[in-house]
Amino acid sequence: MSTSASNATNNLEAFWMPYTANRQFKQNPRMFVGAKDMHYTTSDGRQVLDGTAGLWCCNAGHGRPKIVEAVQKQIAEMDYAPAFQMGHPKAFELAARLAAMMPSPLDHVFFTNSGSESVDTALKIALGYQRSIGQGTRTRFIGRERGYHGTGFGGISVGGIVANRKQFGNMLNGIDHLPHTHDLSRNAFSRGEPTNGVEYAEELIRLVQLHDASTIAAVIVEPVAGSTGVLIPPLGYLKRLREICDQHGILLIFDEVITGFGRLGTPFAVDYFDVVPDLVTTAKGITSGVIPMGAVFCAKKIYDAFMDGPDHLIELFHGYTYSGHPVACAAALATLDTYEEEGLLTRAASLAQYWEDGLHSLKDCPHVIDIRNLGLIGAIELEPIAGEPTKRAFSAFLKAYDDNLLIRTTGDIIALSPPLIISEAQIDELFGTLRSVLNAID
Ligand code: PMP
Repeated sequence: MSTSASNATNNLEAFWMPYTANRQFKQNPRMFVGAKDMHYTTSDGRQVLDGTAGLWCCNAGHGRPKIVEAVQKQIAEMDYAPAFQMGHPKAFELAARLAAMMPSPLDHVFFTNSGSESVDTALKIALGYQRSIGQGTRTRFIGRERGYHGTGFGGISVGGIVANRKQFGNMLNGIDHLPHTHDLSRNAFSRGEPTNGVEYAEELIRLVQLHDASTIAAVIVEPVAGSTGVLIPPLGYLKRLREICDQHGILLIFDEVITGFGRLGTPFAVDYFDVVPDLVTTAKGITSGVIPMGAVFCAKKIYDAFMDGPDHLIELFHGYTYSGHPVACAAALATLDTYEEEGLLTRAASLAQYWEDGLHSLKDCPHVIDIRNLGLIGAIELEPIAGEPTKRAFSAFLKAYDDNLLIRTTGDIIALSPPLIISEAQIDELFGTLRSVLNAID
């Protein structure tokens, strides 16, 4: 059948949707056809408040003129430049600008096209680094339960989401996991960083003893785990991981795909927690979601180990056709301009208290068993319906969509992460709608 002849039902057949049950979606399709500032426009003409910055990415909001213009101009000027053995000025300019945003020694930037690619890139760099300094037995990675590091084989292996792993059989060899730090028995309704649980970091010592440090290349964690429902690290936890890694020659990787670019009220989680890892993965907010792009920040010692290494290690044998794509670079540079001009990288800090108070005002709504927040991230955990996990939160998602609010759910947790341009009035509207949604669902 020709595409032009296909009717709407047939159109819904061909596209195999990511992380979506197509058959369920087909029964109740939800389509966005436009986006501006804090709102999406639906195919039936409604304005939906974006409570999730798309998928944690549109930090500057939607349809921002400066970014749109930069992308249009770049496509007209030079659509593409080969990524290998050739350069173009904007990639160098962007890398230098990004590196200047990170504390030293995170001085070098490798470009990718997504968070998943950033993660697999960082894991490969960690392995290559260990070899280049004569530590080739260090091939093991330590991830964390309930961690999400994208969809590549590296990412699902170090990740700790059972559903993302069990369909696929073999993972990378030699991976172990720290326990997650989500502890409702002690930390329910925490505001900001939970005070209990720093001792979860000591589990890393147990894994070092079990495997021996000489086998471990790197530890990878999300500073705040987003996709599994906003798990905020206990006070002191990340600092302690850093100490243990330092003691044992293990690299520390922060996956800042969600926390990067202002989400916590600082440019990066590195700044918020005052912990400097050896590698940082980013994506999403780097272009405010406008063009796919990711980046890995590398410590100087890692970069130098490749550049000063023996001949066969003089370059990194890794890269993507679209690494440092000119249009993505133009979008990222205009995004950084927008963030800077509007103070968006620190705006979440000034809104954080208002956000926290609004979020925690939902404590008495039905089914709520926990609320947690940091910067402009929030989560509301609901009591699952017996025998039907995820159903309750998903009905909240559907009802919210009908009531003109976009939220995200994972398991029975509602996750919120609005664009950083949100106003106090829109925060009130968001929580007002959410209150009526929670009161309405079974
Ligand atoms: N790491 C983290 C922490 C993420 O949250 C995500 C996406 N939500 C990814 C990696 C994967 O990013 P992408 O979907 O761009 O591949």
